[in-house]
Amino acid sequence: MIIDVAIPVRVSNSFHYFIDDELGRTLSIGSIVSVPFGSRTTYGFVIGFPEKSEVENSKLKKVTEVLVANSVFDENMYQFLKWVSDYYCHPLGEVIATAIPKSFWSPNKKERKSKKIEKCIEEKVFESGIKHELNSSQQTAVESILNPDETRPFLLHGVTGSGKTEVYMNVLSAILDQGKTGIILVPEIALTPQLTERFSGRFPNKIAVLHSDLTPKERVHQWELITQGTAQIVIGARSAVFAPLKKLGVIVVDEEHETSFKQEDSLRYNARDLAVVRAKLLGAKVVLGSATPSVETYQNALNGKYVHLKLSERVNKRAMPRTSFIDLKDKGQWYAPNVSWLSRGLVHAIGETLDQGQQAMLYLNRLGFAHFLFCSDCGHTWRCKNCDVSLTYYQNPPILKCHYCGVHKKVPHTCETCSGVRLDTMGLGTEQVEKTLISIFPKARICRMDRGVIKGKKDLEKVLVRIQRREVDIVIGTQMIAKGHDFPGIALVGVLLADASLNLPDFRAHERTFQIITQVSGRAGRADIPGEVVIQTLNPEHPVLLAASQHHQEEFYRNEISSRKLFQFPPFHRAVMLRFQHSNAHKVESFAYQVVQLLQQELPRRFPKCQILGPTEAPISKVKKMYRWQCLAKSESVKEIQGMLKLLFEWEKRQKSSVQMAVDVDPVNLL
Ligand code: ADP
Ligand code: ZN
Repeated sequence: MIIDVAIPVRVSNSFHYFIDDELGRTLSIGSIVSVPFGSRTTYGFVIGFPEKSEVENSKLKKVTEVLVANSVFDENMYQFLKWVSDYYCHPLGEVIATAIPKSFWSPNKKERKSKKIEKCIEEKVFESGIKHELNSSQQTAVESILNPDETRPFLLHGVTGSGKTEVYMNVLSAILDQGKTGIILVPEIALTPQLTERFSGRFPNKIAVLHSDLTPKERVHQWELITQGTAQIVIGARSAVFAPLKKLGVIVVDEEHETSFKQEDSLRYNARDLAVVRAKLLGAKVVLGSATPSVETYQNALNGKYVHLKLSERVNKRAMPRTSFIDLKDKGQWYAPNVSWLSRGLVHAIGETLDQGQQAMLYLNRLGFAHFLFCSDCGHTWRCKNCDVSLTYYQNPPILKCHYCGVHKKVPHTCETCSGVRLDTMGLGTEQVEKTLISIFPKARICRMDRGVIKGKKDLEKVLVRIQRREVDIVIGTQMIAKGHDFPGIALVGVLLADASLNLPDFRAHERTFQIITQVSGRAGRADIPGEVVIQTLNPEHPVLLAASQHHQEEFYRNEISSRKLFQFPPFHRAVMLRFQHSNAHKVESFAYQVVQLLQQELPRRFPKCQILGPTEAPISKVKKMYRWQCLAKSESVKEIQGMLKLLFEWEKRQKSSVQMAVDVDPVNLL
């Protein structure tokens, strides 16, 4: 018998193998076999039983072993995976291996048994299980989503604190009553313990949780819950979009605008987009929820491809927070002559908040103490030897660290070029904010929430509980604080430097800024106290900041969409980023130029709707000793983009170059 096997390697075709008839009959599409491949043995997924092979039979190799005879995916899943492979121009074997990782079907037997099994959710520390009477907009949303005649995806566009989670739970409950199942995708499961607990409180013993912190044993256990049909609900980060639930009835994507739904290596898929595709193939419902939808999703809601459901008020009519700006260009506002990043106005507001026994939260998306260290005598700065970035200065413990490759070293006392001793720092990080606030408010209980202090789910839960129990007066944090947490006691939110993300070399810089300011502001005033937001900025007149602070969402999206249209960016044009890497700077540069030359020759004739921009050195031109170049291809036509990529792959195969080329369809990160 001949079988067709998809192998997880970077070649796009599958391979034929011989297998004994008797053994072959135990297999089906989706079985896993071990096969010889080149000089090694590897595994692959059975995807067909061809009558004969175009390869000369004497050259066909034999299957080494059957690893899993039972199919690990059904026909629907197979169609979905093939779609993914075509769309992202990624080999089917690698796509299947991403969807069904080896760790699920082949647990590592060497794993030490002593590791205790952690239950999915250990102690109930947050509100859970409580069922609220839905308000009328929530009710309308639930009914629209459940309407059997509506097959389009839904954008559940609800302001922060409008009760979106309650809508998801009611939809899910009805779907389970129909005997079907559901997937809830969250940006990062470790950052959303409250959501997970609310679901498990409401649907006890029906939930499997997939996240990267699972031990191999837990991973296999969760997988069994899903494949054996014990779990009807899967909650997980992006890879959960592949969860092999039977009778899938709904996929919810919470905080659909979050960039973490995009995988940034190997198969560069976007789980939000795949949720829409998988649901469509199955005739299942898909709900994309956000207070600040991505421009792509918003445009789909505007043009009627998606149903736009709005929750425009917070539950119990709680007011949206009041926002004011402080212009940091005005030195008269500075807290002290040498503290240009903190204003007297914000310090005053924090003081009042503390006097009233409320909590304040300060946002700065910058780790460490300062951006970099420099010598005031010769101007030398300390940079990473592997990457084209400066080393971040940490004070506690005192190290210089690279955020790209992780390299770190002790802070020096003398300059390595001129031996000077007058070393100084530039730029602001959360450590410095904490230190300064401790000196201004010595009695306040201050805590920091960033990746420097919070390494995992446990640390985060501890901090969230302390905040909730009012054991903390001031929270200082990075993006981590904006992730949909429900903190009833936060009366004041301060944004330390709103401009930080406005000027990034990324066509989504405005969108990101709008989202983060809105999300951070949304943490204020979620209980019975009115919220206040103070935004420090160098551009108090900037239209994006104004729109975010005044809750003028429609205006923001209208402007942003027309500029995307004008500059031919997504969602109006599809984009593909081609990334090139090599340890030799010249090689990578000349390869990038060759690619662009080839495409410029071929495109006008074969793919006239495609355009190619670049090549350019990547904004971060070296990471981990690899030099990086890139170019961006754009087109209105997905077909043409796919055709262009096929042409490129064939050309690349013939080049046999050592330069690595990665293709990123619908790129999110442009740096
Ligand atoms: P969102 O996800 O839109 O930010 P949540 O679903 O977290 O909002 O809801 C915010 C808070 O309001 C939660 O504490 C939730 O339990 C509560 N809540 C939600 N719906 C209702 C309702 N209909 N009545 C009362 N409280 C509600
Ligand atoms: Zn580095």
